[in-house]
Amino acid sequence: MKRVFLGLGSNLGDREENLARALDLLGGDPRLRIARVSAIYETEPQEIAHQPWFLNLAVEAETSMFPMQLLRYALGIEREMGRVRRVAKGPRPIDIDILLYGNFTIRTPRLEVPHPRMTERRFVLEPLLEIAPDLRHPVTRLSMREHLAGIRGQAARRIG
Ligand code: AMP
Repeated sequence: MKRVFLGLGSNLGDREENLARALDLLGGDPRLRIARVSAIYETEPQEIAHQPWFLNLAVEAETSMFPMQLLRYALGIEREMGRVRRVAKGPRPIDIDILLYGNFTIRTPRLEVPHPRMTERRFVLEPLLEIAPDLRHPVTRLSMREHLAGIRGQAARRIG
């Protein structure tokens, strides 16, 4: 079993319902056990500004899936939940990112872990810090708190 951290986001439709459904689907496979879920954070969209705000949360889980299996599984849930891939980084009912997979470093065209942009995103780091305060990034060796301290702006509000 490997310890993994996932980042979930939704900014289309009933955002809370979408997060709840994605958690149900994620935990519905015997190869993945959800250990901890952060509060929900409402966050400002990054990169493409003119789109609805996101709800984000972080999940800690244990899984027997290999990284590519986990990616396919996550993408399958995104598809099942009706994500239409239009604009990269644009509105979506659900987005599931693999943030960390144990201490593995994976760099393939389809999968990069640790997620390459996680250390620049408040919407990832705030919920992650909440569920794993002592977690260190396997490459930078910095804690999530230290990474968060380097981020300016990007509104994120914990809504419980
Ligand atoms: P996006 O539309 O920005 O959510 O990008 C989705 C694509 O990113 C997927 O098709 C994956 O192949 C790729 N990808 C690369 N690394 C990761 C990762 N760590 N977690 C999720 N998707 C990833």
